[in-house]
Parts: sequence; structure tokens; C-alpha cells
Amino acid sequence: MRLKTSHNEEVATLQRLKRNAEHQLKTLKISSKKQIDELKKEQERDLNTIVDLHQQLDNLKNTHKTKIESARKTSEMWRGLFHDQKRQLVIKERELRTAVSLRMKELSAHPMAKEQQRKYKTFLCEICTLEFGQEEERTPRVLGCGHTICLRCCEMIARPDQIQCPFCRVVTKLTGRTISHLPKNYLALNMALLCSDNEKAM
Ligand SMILES: [Zn+2]
Ligand SMILES: [Zn+2]
Repeated sequence: MRLKTSHNEEVATLQRLKRNAEHQLKTLKISSKKQIDELKKEQERDLNTIVDLHQQLDNLKNTHKTKIESARKTSEMWRGLFHDQKRQLVIKERELRTAVSLRMKELSAHPMAKEQQRKYKTFLCEICTLEFGQEEERTPRVLGCGHTICLRCCEMIARPDQIQCPFCRVVTKLTGRTISHLPKNYLALNMALLCSDNEKAM
């Protein structure tokens, strides 16, 4: 009888232990399920964040690409404009050069112009660009080298005993003579007088 009682007690203890163990197991299961759920949620959030970041990165890349593209287009446009301007300038310059040389040809082909040029070459003092004439200081004087300038210009450039030609730099010695002793260029003088007579008659 006592044996049976002790056996029953043992069974009861074992059953209690079993219930306890089952309860603990259940609690453990619940708590670990909660943890797993939370972990899953966390993982999901992380995944979303990663997707978001990828999206942002793509957006940035696209913006960057667009900016680079537009900068490239702008610089190409400016380069194009610059080339156009340069080409136009070159064309303009060529046109101007052609026009100028044509005009020069026209002018020099004109009989009056030829006359004028000859007159300027022969009947003007090339230093002061004034016409030769009969007054003493306008008379054309020949230097030792053969070049002719007016007396006034001779006086301006003369040293006490010599005069250096302003065209060819050859020195003409005066050796005691004054500048008024330099020979007159009568051809130049007569042509200048003839020319001014003609102009008066016109
Ligand atoms: Zn002169
Ligand atoms: Zn000379």
C-alpha cells in the first residue's frame, strides 16, 4: 500500500515536471518565434533601405549624366559659334583685301592717278612733301649722290661741313661751300612750275 502511494507520488512529480517542461518549451517557442519575426521584419527594413539607396544612386547617376550631356552640348554649341565667327571673319578679311587691291588697281590704272603719282614723285620734296618752287627755300637741290630735296630740308639736316642724304645715307662734303652752292635740279624745278601753271589754267 505504501509502495503504491510512493509510486503514485513519483508519477505525480514526473507529471508535474513534464507539465513544467512543456510549459517552458511553449514559452521558449513563442519567444523565439517573436524574435524570428522581429529579425525578419528588420531584414525586410534593411532590404527596403538598400533598394532605396540603389534608387537614389541611380537618380544621382542620371542627374550627373544629364548635366554632363548638357554641358557637352553647350560647349559644342559655343565651339560651333566660335568656328562660325572665325570663318566669317576670315571670309570678311579676304573680301576686304580683294576689294582694297581691286580699288588700288582701279586707282593706279586711272590716267589722272598716274599723272598725279608721277607729279608727286618728281615735283615734291619727299622729305617735307611740299612742292618745289622758285622761292629760294623751295628750290630743289641735288646732293652728291644724285638725290634731290628742297633747300629748306637741306638746311634742316646739314652739319657745318657736310650733309648726309636721308634716302641713301651717302655724305656730301660741303668743303667751305654753303648749302646755297648745292646745284639746283632744274628739271624738277621746271616740271614743278609747268605743273602748277597747268593747274592754274584748269
Ligand atoms: Zn623739303
Ligand atoms: Zn642719296
